[in-house]
Amino acid sequence: MTEIQTVTGATTPEQLGRTLMHEHLLIGYPGSDVDWVNPGPSRRERVERCVERIEEMKALGITAMLDPCPSDLGRDVELMAEVAQRTRFSLICATGLYKEAEGATAYWKFKMNFGSVVDAMAELFIRELTDGIAGTGIRAGIIKVATGHATLTPYEQAVFEAAAKASLATGAPITTHTDEGRYGDDQQAFLTGHGVPAHRIVIGHSCGTSDTAYHTKIARSGSYLGFDRFGLDLLQPDTERVAALARLIQGGFGRQIVVSHDSVWCWNGAPIPTEALEQMEKIWNPTHFLTRIAPRLRDAGVGEAEIDALLLDNPRRFFAGEPL
Ligand SMILES: [Zn+2]
Repeated sequence: MTEIQTVTGATTPEQLGRTLMHEHLLIGYPGSDVDWVNPGPSRRERVERCVERIEEMKALGITAMLDPCPSDLGRDVELMAEVAQRTRFSLICATGLYKEAEGATAYWKFKMNFGSVVDAMAELFIRELTDGIAGTGIRAGIIKVATGHATLTPYEQAVFEAAAKASLATGAPITTHTDEGRYGDDQQAFLTGHGVPAHRIVIGHSCGTSDTAYHTKIARSGSYLGFDRFGLDLLQPDTERVAALARLIQGGFGRQIVVSHDSVWCWNGAPIPTEALEQMEKIWNPTHFLTRIAPRLRDAGVGEAEIDALLLDNPRRFFAGEPL
């Protein structure tokens, strides 16, 4: 039986239940830790806020969540473990590194002056997947990689190559970040070209575009698509995300889609002005899909079983590594 690592220990894909595949307890952009004038919420406030969010999800029947924060974006696995313990909720964390434009790249780029960093990155990812993260004993359950407003940069190619190595060495799946729903096909081609089976990959933020030909290309090549930014109207209106999702389900690709919001519950520092953030959080929160998007999918003709599969069957099959 396939095991999957949560921040509080191993479980099975069957035991996960309804799973949101991309939400964040905490994000901290590199540099936020030096803004001591605006530190963001205290540790206690962070725990309380995250517990509250998870209780709201549990009330809707959601029992698990992936927080794919890469190691260089404020990832706090001890916060995750404390919240998971308090709520008796399955939380999966990630190893991996963020896109070049917004990650903590200085260290790796300096190191690249002396040769390839792929093996060192791969060793770090593997250790986080097998031994645990930085002495905590908390193991990552997935690998996160990312690209920005262009196809893979040389730095990102190193990260992706290391991710492929770590995935093949450990059997861990991979989830990605794309901007504007672009270059996911390039990500898929790169990873499968380095030996990762397509069905072990979620191309994240695919709902950043309504381009059904792009979605279909990735789906036909055998990966999962993350429709995982519901409520982020700032980047792409939900009307577009819903219509594109309904088209894919009606086109027979419903088994290959996972859903989420990419909501962020706590920030290091203060990257978004408080008023703007409060306004955004009215719909950009982890209850939005079940309370507001599912009814719109029903109105668009999507059946109840197909909607439920997005949360239950598809994450289970992805983590179990079952062929599509
Ligand atoms: Zn995210």
